Amino acid sequence: MISVHNLHKSFGDNKVLRGIDEQIAQGEKVVVIGPSGSGKSTFLRCLNLLEEPTSGEITFEGVNITDKKCDINKMRQKMGMVFQHFNLFPHLTVLRNITLAPVQLGLQSQKEADKNAMKLLERIGLSDKAEAYPPQLSGGQKQRIAIVRSLAMNPDVMLFDEPTSALDPEMVGEVLELMKELALEGMTMVVVTHEMGFAREVATRVLFMDEGQIVEQAPPQEFFSNPKNPRLRDFLSKVL
Ligand code: ADP
Ligand code: MG
Repeated sequence: MISVHNLHKSFGDNKVLRGIDEQIAQGEKVVVIGPSGSGKSTFLRCLNLLEEPTSGEITFEGVNITDKKCDINKMRQKMGMVFQHFNLFPHLTVLRNITLAPVQLGLQSQKEADKNAMKLLERIGLSDKAEAYPPQLSGGQKQRIAIVRSLAMNPDVMLFDEPTSALDPEMVGEVLELMKELALEGMTMVVVTHEMGFAREVATRVLFMDEGQIVEQAPPQEFFSNPKNPRLRDFLSKVL
């Protein structure tokens, strides 16, 4: 589904991504871990071209999205993204937040989008919040709404950048639970997270990034029980 070839990204002199090669198949749940500043967010943001790669090639569903001729907005509709800080529109109701993209892009009528959004809100037990505004909600509610807002576009892959890092501890579980459900339903997911329990339980593969490279990757069982790279061992000794 996603194929990354020799991806480099620099900000000025700062070489943040240094040659990433990665293939992500449909239905995989790839968890990305690594120290702060290792390039995890930049990697994720390159996958849907929120950051423009300095060099290298990324194909998504067979289309070279790093080609200047590619209609990236069209491709992005198939890639949902969930951020640490939710990025909901504070001045729009929950319902509007969810229906905005599909309606503005002409994919659904407002009526269809409303109906679909209400179904999604029911699914997460928040249909009574349809007319509320994001500042009236808890962090866990906001993040679950941000997730279903992405789902409203029927994406083929969901990218998550530390979706629980900004939450109070008691709200982490409800967000991880929803992500687990999506995983079980077969969603292709790429998740940057510090939640090692989630990585063990849900990931099909765990990647360790350090200084802009993927230095180790393996299925979780092997990854956690038999880490080979010394920097990964050091990292795991601090987080586990
Ligand atoms: P991580 O998510 O692993 O913590 P990031 O990808 O956010 O790492 O950042 C990696 C490096 O890239 C950091 O040194 C950061 O300062 C730099 N960086 C990230 N985004 C930008 C940007 N938009 N402009 C300049 N430097 C950036
Ligand atoms: Mg980050």
